[in-house]
Amino acid sequence: MPDMQTYDFIIVGAGSAGCVVAERLSASGRHSVLVLEAGGTDRRFFVQMPLGYGKCFFDPAVNWNYKTEPDPGLAGNADHWPRGKLLGGSSSINAMVWIRGHPADYDAWAAQGNPGWSWSDVLPAFKAIEDNAAGADRWRGTGGPLHVTNCEDQVHPLTRRYLQSAQQAGLPLNPDFNGATQEGVGVYQISTKDGRRMSAARAFLRPAMKRKNVRVETGALATRLLFEGTRVVGVEYEQRGKRCTARAGKEIILSGGSINSPQLLQLSGVGPAEHLRGLGIEIVQASENVGRNLQDHIGINYTFKGRQPTLNQLLRPWWGKLWVGLQYVLLRSGPLSLSMNNAGGFFRTGTGQERPNMQLYFQAFSTVIPKAGERPILTPDPWPGFSIGLSNCRPSSRGEIMIRSADPLVYPKIVANALSTEADVAEMLDAVKFVRRIAAQPAMKDFIVEEILPGPAVTSDAALIADFRKRSGTVYHPVSTCRMGPDAASAVVDARLRVHGVGGLRVIDASVFPDNISGNTNAPSIMTGWKGAAMVLEDWA
Ligand SMILES: Cc1cc2nc3c(=O)[nH]c(=O)nc-3n(C[C@H](O)[C@H](O)[C@H](O)COP(=O)(O)OP(=O)(O)OC[C@H]3O[C@@H](n4cnc5c(N)ncnc54)[C@H](O)[C@@H]3O)c2cc1C
Repeated sequence: MPDMQTYDFIIVGAGSAGCVVAERLSASGRHSVLVLEAGGTDRRFFVQMPLGYGKCFFDPAVNWNYKTEPDPGLAGNADHWPRGKLLGGSSSINAMVWIRGHPADYDAWAAQGNPGWSWSDVLPAFKAIEDNAAGADRWRGTGGPLHVTNCEDQVHPLTRRYLQSAQQAGLPLNPDFNGATQEGVGVYQISTKDGRRMSAARAFLRPAMKRKNVRVETGALATRLLFEGTRVVGVEYEQRGKRCTARAGKEIILSGGSINSPQLLQLSGVGPAEHLRGLGIEIVQASENVGRNLQDHIGINYTFKGRQPTLNQLLRPWWGKLWVGLQYVLLRSGPLSLSMNNAGGFFRTGTGQERPNMQLYFQAFSTVIPKAGERPILTPDPWPGFSIGLSNCRPSSRGEIMIRSADPLVYPKIVANALSTEADVAEMLDAVKFVRRIAAQPAMKDFIVEEILPGPAVTSDAALIADFRKRSGTVYHPVSTCRMGPDAASAVVDARLRVHGVGGLRVIDASVFPDNISGNTNAPSIMTGWKGAAMVLEDWA
């Protein structure tokens, strides 16, 4: 290791993408790598245990706990935006559903002037990343660093009814959403191994930390980039109340995620000039798109009361908690070893859609009524509840993230603008009607006592819209705030993820997606880390 404060590469953020970049850049042993992570260790019980999800959802020890501005599209609600603040980033607190997106999503990325990002370019990366328990084929990989579990034989029995009723509603059964086709219903594969969460930290960073050329600093919040002219040469960070600096001989890579990467750029004078000047920040490179083009998936649950026990009857009583706890601790199996989303699917709301524009989620439990004084989503309801949820795939609403102050400790302003276009509202209306259609099929109908949320009184279009504005919210997939594109006037980074107009600096995380993908964003973020690191290595070969 050279001088402790000078490294070839400095990576800001050990999240889904950052962990991969750290592993890839350090693999040859030829480059020294410093990783700065604002949060702490991922060696925590409720991080490692898959259904510990609910415990991490609001926990400031592992979560940034962002809040959006009150959103007119969500009936004025200020939405809760959890983001992981620990090794592994959001992959250490997410719901572990392993979805790549639709091939056409990536072809659309490439068609926007981003060579290297078409489906045929990214498929080899997805395959190389993965160690899929279901085996390898034309689409799936084995032997990669990240294990993907096939949950077919472990999900709650009620899942079968959901799959049957969705088929009765017209969707095909799909054995693999990451395989030949995306459309249909099926059981989700999840990123776990032997009943423990398979975060990017576990798959990539922990093995890399054994190398002599990797140094990981936790509790290290990057506060400002240091420039010589328009070239980035170092980074300032705060750790345990002390201000520190580190220099990069080759490059600095921002992997802070869709909220923090644009925030750090703006704090450092790279961003919308007028806004930054108004906060007294000196402009290094005016770049109007830093923080803009924010895209996110919005979701809602329809919750039902069933005739027979669901997971609620196992997860709520003390004896049930003891039972599943023992099952988990002794055997690493049972409900605690799985995602809350047992199954799901993809469908089109209209025949005019060329590919699915909606995603489904099935949960064999419900958490409608929080216990007094307790955060939501922790306590299962006392009756046999379950939910069918959905989220949009490629909404047209756009928001933005802008710093409020030159102080790096002040959270940026998040304007989500959810459901702010007519098209997004119209497709959501069609989609919630389809959820009811699934619930009305023979396989499900006789099992259901009543619809709890929104409830049978909500039937007119106006009432359904008012309900989903009131009850829906992020499904935690914000992207595109440092979007990739050939033109500095409409993008922040180029197709090799270099920041337009700035030397020695790349952004590699979900913020560079040119547009959101149709599905969950962890696997695509990890793929972006893998492809981005390959580009860095090629450019320094
Ligand atoms: C509650 C939740 C559930 C989700 N469920 C799923 C799911 O089931 N399936 C799925 O595919 N996706 C899911 N996602 C989304 C997915 O996890 C994210 O899209 C993905 O992890 C984003 O990766 P990233 O690398 O862009 O950022 P992150 O993984 O968020 O990493 C950013 C890292 O940078 C660190 N950082 C930020 N700023 C600084 C700074 N200034 N200095 C130092 N460090 C900094 C952060 O602490 C964090 O560790 C979920 C997300 C959440 C929050």
